[in-house]
Amino acid sequence: MTNNNIRIAYFSMEIALQPGMPTYAGGLGILAGDTLRSAADMNVPMVAISLLPRRGYFHQTLTDDGWQNETEANWVVEDFLKQTSTCIEVYIDGRPVIIRAWQYQLSGSGDSSVDIYFLDSDSEENSDYDRSLSHFLYGGDGHYRLCQEVILGIGGVRMLEAMGYSGLQRYHLNEGHSSLLILELREQRRRAGDDVDITESVRDLCVFTTHTPVPAGHDKFPLNEVSTVLGPDYSLLGCEDLFCFDNKLNMTYLALANSRYINGVAKKHSQLSRQMYAGYHIDSITNGVHAGTWVCEPMQQLYDQYIPGWRLDNASLRSALNIPCTPILQAHQAAKQALLETVNQHYNQPAKQMEIDIFTIGFARRATVYKRLGLLFSDIERLKSICAKFVRLQIVFAGKAHPNDQQGKLLIQKIIHLANNLNQHINIVFLPDYSINLAKLMVSGCDLWLNTPQPPLEASGTSGMKAALNGVPSLSTMDGWWLEGCLEGLTGWGIGNGESIAEKLTAQGSDQSQVEASLLYNKLEQIILPLYYQNQHGYLEVMRNAIALNGSYFNAERMLNQYIAKAYY
Ligand SMILES: *Cc1c(COP(=O)(O)O)cnc(C)c1O
Repeated sequence: MTNNNIRIAYFSMEIALQPGMPTYAGGLGILAGDTLRSAADMNVPMVAISLLPRRGYFHQTLTDDGWQNETEANWVVEDFLKQTSTCIEVYIDGRPVIIRAWQYQLSGSGDSSVDIYFLDSDSEENSDYDRSLSHFLYGGDGHYRLCQEVILGIGGVRMLEAMGYSGLQRYHLNEGHSSLLILELREQRRRAGDDVDITESVRDLCVFTTHTPVPAGHDKFPLNEVSTVLGPDYSLLGCEDLFCFDNKLNMTYLALANSRYINGVAKKHSQLSRQMYAGYHIDSITNGVHAGTWVCEPMQQLYDQYIPGWRLDNASLRSALNIPCTPILQAHQAAKQALLETVNQHYNQPAKQMEIDIFTIGFARRATVYKRLGLLFSDIERLKSICAKFVRLQIVFAGKAHPNDQQGKLLIQKIIHLANNLNQHINIVFLPDYSINLAKLMVSGCDLWLNTPQPPLEASGTSGMKAALNGVPSLSTMDGWWLEGCLEGLTGWGIGNGESIAEKLTAQGSDQSQVEASLLYNKLEQIILPLYYQNQHGYLEVMRNAIALNGSYFNAERMLNQYIAKAYY
């Protein structure tokens, strides 16, 4: 496809493409990568824009005392990306800043591909500060972030124009980091002197996906700083009342007020977003993951044998119901073996080796308070008694805390201390430096995927979808995608009903986490562990249903088809 055949520009602060490229921090970047992989598979005329983080997000190391340290994730950009010859300029704080673009050609399963451009300000013409804007993903202070968002939004639109992308009909803002592109699109039209309603014509181009109800996920910048950084060219267009509050520019409202189509990333999240942003029409497209990327090798072979063509027709995974249990078990045990090898290499005491026949729980996600990493340990005596009853339980943890999230780091430390203290009773490991590769090993190699976010704060969550595609059932609080994916006892198990029971509980003097922990223990003790150890066939049926009912639906192919139908055309 030539550049002027491309119709959709996808903007994302982070995009996860392959191991070795630290261009993502977590779920948002993984989702962007999976969306673009499906676009390449499906020959969708799309181009993507992101920022180049030369020193990456960070690598996590853990001290003996369980404290997270961060080291720069330096990488050789040239090994992965090709520098283009196009170069553009943006103004930051009144200075011209030269921006170049690095290209990544993402190939789909067929002949088609999607071009992704990483914008780079780290070249000699620029000041040290401006060069540093291409160093860190989610690093620095508010001013640093604002400058990065000028490059992403304003620079991104200019770069696409300079590269000859002349047929663009949609700009998809994957979260509000790229909202400044709206100002540049308006400027373009104003300069062109088109005789059109600028607000309406820009609005008709923009699609906005909001990804979290948590306030920290929504950028706000002081108005005086915004006008200094952007300079006089960008008046906020006389509609400040729509997206500026308390003298701050709110990037979420900027996108909301200027997009033709807006969506949340699961039904519940969209409903919550409609309450948070009254007056906007907010639709729902539930997230999905890229099947070909997240299914482990042994399961891929199984699907190739029983469901040929599943990679480009994910819905056909429904016929996983026809796969006999024995080959599912064999493929799963191979995946579990691969995970346990990694775990066992991590141990320096041979006595602690994890074993293939022991029920293994996986838990990996960003370490932050609402995800409640420690919920499983709310009542240690109860947990010990469950283990004593079944003798055998292993737990594999992973996840990074944001460098400034001290509470998140404390959570990690708490898990590591517990792992040491409980080692007579349960084998628990915390694997450092959660990444694409580790995620793939974990979501396929565990027997149960545990997720315990505090409702209603998990917008969607995607790791449980990856697990389902590998035949690994979830046990999760009722939030995000699991409200749609949980068929109790069929695809996995739910904890609680997702309603806030806070008021009822305050009256009883207990809190929601305690109640949910107790429900979690009940499910493990009375249903899941007996099924696993005493009715293997029954457990395998749940695994098979996870593939057939959830893998066939919670994938990026279905998700992108919904974006095409509802948002792009
Ligand atoms: C899938 C994935 C995530 C997001 O998982 P959630 O369940 O949405 O929290 C984060 N990091 C990595 C490396 C992943 O693979």
